[in-house]
Amino acid sequence: MAEKKPMLSAVEALDFLLSAVRPIVDTETLPTLEANGRVLAVAQTSQLNVPPMDNTQMDGYAVRAAECASGSARLQVSQRIPAGHVGEPLQRGTVARIFTGAMIPQGADAVVMQEQCEAEKTAEGDVVTIRHAPQAGEWIRRTGEDIQAGSTILAAGTRLRAQELGLAASVGLASLPVVRRPRVAVFFTGDELAMPGEPLKPGAIYNSNRFTLRGLLENLGCDITDYGIVPDSLDATRDTLRKAAAGHDLIITSGGVSVGEEDHIKPAVEAEGRLNMWQIAIKPGKPLAFGEINRADKQPAFFIGLPGNPVSSFVTFLLFVRPFLLRLQGVADVMPRSFRMRADFALPKADRRNEFLRARINASGGLDLFHNQSSAVLTSTVWGDGLVDNPAGQTVAVGDTVRFIPFSELLF
Ligand code: AMP
Ligand code: MG
Repeated sequence: MAEKKPMLSAVEALDFLLSAVRPIVDTETLPTLEANGRVLAVAQTSQLNVPPMDNTQMDGYAVRAAECASGSARLQVSQRIPAGHVGEPLQRGTVARIFTGAMIPQGADAVVMQEQCEAEKTAEGDVVTIRHAPQAGEWIRRTGEDIQAGSTILAAGTRLRAQELGLAASVGLASLPVVRRPRVAVFFTGDELAMPGEPLKPGAIYNSNRFTLRGLLENLGCDITDYGIVPDSLDATRDTLRKAAAGHDLIITSGGVSVGEEDHIKPAVEAEGRLNMWQIAIKPGKPLAFGEINRADKQPAFFIGLPGNPVSSFVTFLLFVRPFLLRLQGVADVMPRSFRMRADFALPKADRRNEFLRARINASGGLDLFHNQSSAVLTSTVWGDGLVDNPAGQTVAVGDTVRFIPFSELLF
């Protein structure tokens, strides 16, 4: 009997995948308003100080702090400065009425908030009593306090979320250079698959993986070509792989990746390219395949074959495809954050594989497991808040600390 090679661990498999990535080099320039979810291709530097001028953080009065030292100074209001307007230099012995965001007039060195002031109208005009002795600089937002002109605000390889877009806009960047979207082809193997909207014939099930995988790919900014359901035949699988290789960075398939007679992915990939990795010691998701599909006069397209079981394909996407797609776009830090949390469940029987269990954070801050961890039970992924990463051979007793990866770290 042929000697069986030990399966790769999750960590080894991910290392292998990431080391194979050839990041996309094409870039495009997008309006900052349309760059949400994309990856920045070139580091961005601010030409400006932010804020660009000393301005007030409060509605109140711009003063010379030394003139208010008594804590009950009575001073003439010589001008009014709303946000967006530039005042006159502040005359000695006077103050300026000022509103949040307005530029501090020359000569003033503090702002006293209006709640600490008593305004009155007199024959000589507006007068105010300042019932506070401010420190110099009080309530003033200083020029360049947030960002200094010439400094780098965003590194290349940064994923642009709402807050990165806001930061770019705050220094006046109207457009941003981003990495081209990954072009991903997908198809779904299985003679049993039907689409929602079609009647379900005897023996058929709905192609739920199509919806799960498309949603996940959209979250990661991919351009998707969907070849739909492909019958369980070697020829059909090979034809679709060959078609999909043209014009795509990555081909992702669902199902047909085990060793049954109806599983054609492995021989099809070997015929159209090569298989570089197959099977990982994880549960769910053992039958995961990674390889390349040949393309005429181009580097081969990457290939990842996900298992057919819905939870397996979901979990293996989160653990392996997500970091692969991020690295493809030039993101350096592709690992999800995980948290040490209390298990309010027990796993008395150790598994030989690294398990990724669907779990939920309970009201007392511990973790509960979904009652059915079958790789076919999609309900667990909707019920759960994330995955407990339980190492191979590890039992868990109630109260033990386990590693938890929230879905919020894995879905985007
Ligand atoms: P396979 O990996 O092709 O052996 O499929 C494993 C299990 O997953 C079988 O029970 C299939 O019916 C099911 N399955 C395969 N593809 C899908 C899909 N696209 N959507 C839902 N279930 C699937
Ligand atoms: Mg199948």
